[in-house]
Amino acid sequence: MTERALHWFRNDLRLADNPALAAATEAGPVLCLYILDTSPDRRPIGGASRWWLSRSLAVLDDALARKGGRLVVMAGDPALLLPRIVAEAGIKLVTWNRRYEAAEIALDRKLKEALTADGITVRSFNSHLLNEPWQITTKTGQPMKVFTPYWRAARQKGDPCAPTPAPRAISALPLPDSIKPLAVSLGDLGLEPTKPDWAGGLREAWAPGEAGAATRLDEFIGSGLAGYAEARDRPDRAATSRLSPHLHFGEIGPRQVWHALQHARAAGEAAGSERDAEKFLSEIGWREFSHHLLFHNPELATRNYDSRFDAFPWEPDHKALRRWQRGQTGIPLVDAGMRELWTTGWMHNRVRMVVASFLIKHLLQDWRAGEAWFWDTLVDADAANNAASWQWVAGSGADASPYFRIFNPVTQGETHDPKGAYVRQWVPELAGLSDKDIHQPWKASEKALREAGIRIGETYPAPLIDLAFGRQRALDAFATIRSG
Ligand SMILES: Cc1cc2nc3c(=O)[nH]c(=O)nc-3n(C[C@H](O)[C@H](O)[C@H](O)COP(=O)(O)OP(=O)(O)OC[C@H]3O[C@@H](n4cnc5c(N)ncnc54)[C@H](O)[C@@H]3O)c2cc1C
Repeated sequence: MTERALHWFRNDLRLADNPALAAATEAGPVLCLYILDTSPDRRPIGGASRWWLSRSLAVLDDALARKGGRLVVMAGDPALLLPRIVAEAGIKLVTWNRRYEAAEIALDRKLKEALTADGITVRSFNSHLLNEPWQITTKTGQPMKVFTPYWRAARQKGDPCAPTPAPRAISALPLPDSIKPLAVSLGDLGLEPTKPDWAGGLREAWAPGEAGAATRLDEFIGSGLAGYAEARDRPDRAATSRLSPHLHFGEIGPRQVWHALQHARAAGEAAGSERDAEKFLSEIGWREFSHHLLFHNPELATRNYDSRFDAFPWEPDHKALRRWQRGQTGIPLVDAGMRELWTTGWMHNRVRMVVASFLIKHLLQDWRAGEAWFWDTLVDADAANNAASWQWVAGSGADASPYFRIFNPVTQGETHDPKGAYVRQWVPELAGLSDKDIHQPWKASEKALREAGIRIGETYPAPLIDLAFGRQRALDAFATIRSG
C-alpha cells in the first residue's frame, strides 16, 4: 500500500535508528518536516541550542537529499501548522518520535486527537530512550525515586532492541503550492548569532549532525573509554564522550550507543576495562533516570521536588549572579568552568557540579537562576538532565546530594585538576602561578603574585565570597528548613 506520509522531526535529527522515519518511508512518499516552535506555550530553546540546531538541520537536509528526500522547514505553532499541511498535502499517515516535556506531551496529545478525528493515522515511537519512563516502576507500580534500584531494574530488562539502519531511499513528497509560502530557509530562521557572532568557539569545538555523532562515539569507544571510570572526573583531560548534545538532539540514540559498545566489547575492540564500560553505561542510565523524573514530575525545572525547599531563604543578588555567569567570581575553578561554558557551550560534569554548588550554596542563589543560565548557554541544554541535575546539586531533587554536602572549589580543583591545567586553559591570567597557588591565588605570596603578573582585584577579581563564611551561611540557611 502506498500512502502519503509526513514525518515530523523533533529531537530525532538522524536517519538511522529512527523508527518513526522508517515507518513513514515504508508507507510511501514522505514529507519530512521540521517546525521551529515559536508558541509561547512551550519553553523556547536557548541561544547555544539554536546555534546547534541550525547546524544539525543543515546536515540532516544534506543526508535526506542523498537518499532522495528533502527537509521542509517552517516556524510557528505546530498546533496550527501541522493540521493545515496534512490537509492540503493529502497526508494519510503522520509519524513522530516521542518527547517527555509536559507542554510538548500536551501538544502531541492534542494533535493526535485532532488528526485521528479527521481520519489520519498517527503513529508515535520511542527513539530517545532505552526505556519509556512508564516502563520501569517499583514493585507496586509507582515511579522510581532512587537511581540505583532504577538502573538495576533497567539492566534486568536485558539489552534494548537492536538499532535499525537508515532507510535505503526516501521518496520526497512535494509541497503543494498552497503551502509553499509557509516553508522557510534555514537562514530565515535566524538561529545563528550575527551581531555579535559569539559562536566562534562553538564552531571550533563541535561537529553537529549524525555523522559527527557517530565519529565521536566510535573514537570514544575505540580509545577514549580507557580509564573512564576514574578519569571522567578530571576536567584537565578529554576523558568523557562529549556525546551529550548529540544525544539531546537525537543525532544518535542510546540504543545505538549501547549496541555499539556491547558489540565492540564482544569483539575485543573497546578500549578500557569492564568497569569503564559499566560506568559509562550507568551515565546513560542517569540520562534515563532524569527523563523518568521529568515525565513523572512535569514541573521539575520550576518547582522543588522536595517541597521543604519552597521555604528556603534564598538571597537574590543580581550582581553576584552576573559575576558567576561571566566567570568573574575570583574562584579559579568556578571561573574556568563558566568561561568554558561561555566559549564552547559545554562544561565538564565535575565542574558543572562545582559551579552549581557554589552558586546555590556559597552565594545562596536559587537553583532556578542557574538552571536558566545553563538552558541558554549549553549546547546540550536538556529539560530532563538540566533540571534533574540542578535539583540534585541543590539537595531539593530526587535521590539528591544532601544539601549539607557543599563542594569546596579549592579542594575540588586540587583533587581533579591537580596541575591546574584546566584553570590555566580557561583563566589564562592566572597561568603564571604555581600548581600550589593556582586554585587559591588570594593566598599566594606577594612575590609569587608579582612574578606571575597578577594584581588581585585588578588583573583577576578578589573572591566574591570568603569560602568558609559562605559555607557556614549556607548551612545556617539550610537549618531553617530542615525540620519542616
Ligand atoms: C548542574 C548540572 C547541569 C547539567 N545539565 C545538563 C544538561 O542540560 N544536559 C545534559 O545532557 N547533561 C547535563 N548535565 C549532566 C552532565 O554534566 C552531562 O551530561 C555531561 O557532562 C555531558 O558530557 P559527556 O557527554 O562527555 O558525558 P559522559 O560522561 O560521556 O556521559 C555519557 C552521556 O550520559 C549522559 N549523562 C552523563 N552524566 C549525566 C548526568 N549526571 N545526568 C544525566 N545524564 C548524564 C549524557 O547524555 C552524556 O552524554 C548536568 C549536570 C549538572 C551537574
